[in-house]
Amino acid sequence: MNDRITQAISFAARYTKQLAVMFVDLDLFKRINDSLGHATGDKLLQQVAIRIVACVRRSDTVARIGGDEFVVLLSQVGHAEDAVFIARKILTSLAAPYLIDQKLLQINASIGVSTYPGDGTDAETLVHRADTAMYEAKKLGRNNCQFFRPEMQARVLEWQSLEGSLRCALERNEFTLVYQPKIDLATEEITGVEALLRWIHPERGLIQPLKFVPIAEESGLIVPIGQWVLLEACRQARAWIDAGLPPVRIAVNVSALQFAAKDFLSSVRAALISTGIDPCKLELELTETVLMQDAESTVQILRSLKAIGVQLAVDDFGVGYSSFRYLRKFPLDTLKVDRSFINDISSNPDNAMILSALINIGKSLKHRVVAEGVETEEQLHFLQQEGCSEGQGFFFCRPVIAEKFADFLQHGLTQSAVH
Ligand code: C2E
Ligand code: MG
Ligand code: MG
Repeated sequence: MNDRITQAISFAARYTKQLAVMFVDLDLFKRINDSLGHATGDKLLQQVAIRIVACVRRSDTVARIGGDEFVVLLSQVGHAEDAVFIARKILTSLAAPYLIDQKLLQINASIGVSTYPGDGTDAETLVHRADTAMYEAKKLGRNNCQFFRPEMQARVLEWQSLEGSLRCALERNEFTLVYQPKIDLATEEITGVEALLRWIHPERGLIQPLKFVPIAEESGLIVPIGQWVLLEACRQARAWIDAGLPPVRIAVNVSALQFAAKDFLSSVRAALISTGIDPCKLELELTETVLMQDAESTVQILRSLKAIGVQLAVDDFGVGYSSFRYLRKFPLDTLKVDRSFINDISSNPDNAMILSALINIGKSLKHRVVAEGVETEEQLHFLQQEGCSEGQGFFFCRPVIAEKFADFLQHGLTQSAVH
């Protein structure tokens, strides 16, 4: 690959042309390897390779340079936009389901792109910069493509430094949970609470999950961190009960790697047993991506979780890629409609229409429907009109510390907290 890039550079230099190097990294590939074994992982990589090759010209080069990392050399591009086009084509092609050993699997990729001569004049620099841009794509939520920009270098360093401190954050006790109530939209009573993770970094102070959860996921650290969250949430629920407060259903977010880990079921059981929490008072929130990555195995895991008695919710519903066939097959209890649909219902009639359709899907599947991100009275009225039963959002209450939430449990959401 290095040789091809070097050759392509000489050619481009001679004829004053451009070329592009793409760094393609599969998203959360570790999950497939860990849950289905390396043989399945290998077959998936082979199919991925075939699909990437099919997206480029014969004169281009596709190389696999590490576990789930591919480098694509587009040896002649007229403009940077050509590379965007190819990158999109690759993302779309890779996103379609794979049939491997009778199982339907899904995987996405993150792509970084660098171009000659703008971003570098030798193979090593171009690959390195494409890799840097790929990091940025991961950071922006994966399944997208980014072009190298010089300021990204600082951000990669930041990512790596955060990853470093994340490694010791658990033992240093730097995590904490905050709690956001879910509200019955008709009575404004508390129906449950979601535990949300916060990281108090010794130097930087409070860091939000959107900033560090992707790093924790990419590095695998999310598994022990997630276990801590599960146990801590159950412990807190126990403490509220012990303080004489009415038992409340507590929800915990579960990420893909955690869900696929072999000991996930036993860690859920252990958390429930050690704290004596009634299983039906624990809800696990899983995003569509988590559920659909390997839908057949998901059905099995969800059934086992249901057998324990815990509640199951789809989080951020509507923004992922759900197969409705599976959505019906999964033993789910709750559907949480993503907040992007609630956001701008007043200015965007299409979103209002989608929102009401999503609510109806939930209702027809006989799930509890929770609207995320309710911020205004207008949104609340719309949701009430559409028959959405529950909501969560700043309009009712921001995430608060445990003591404050205990207050709400005891006295209800006081006027000061509401709106
Ligand atoms: P999520 O599970 O969808 O959680 C809801 C997010 O929306 C929370 O952000 C919450 O503070 C925010 N939110 C609630 N109401 C409103 C509103 O009215 N307006 C706006 N703009 N935002 C609202 P947060 O706490 O920053 O968490 C972000 C995401 O990080 C979560 O999204 C979840 O995906 C992830 N996350 C949080 N805690 C954990 C955890 O313990 N484990 C894992 N794996 N992921 C977590
Ligand atoms: Mg959630
Ligand atoms: Mg959500």
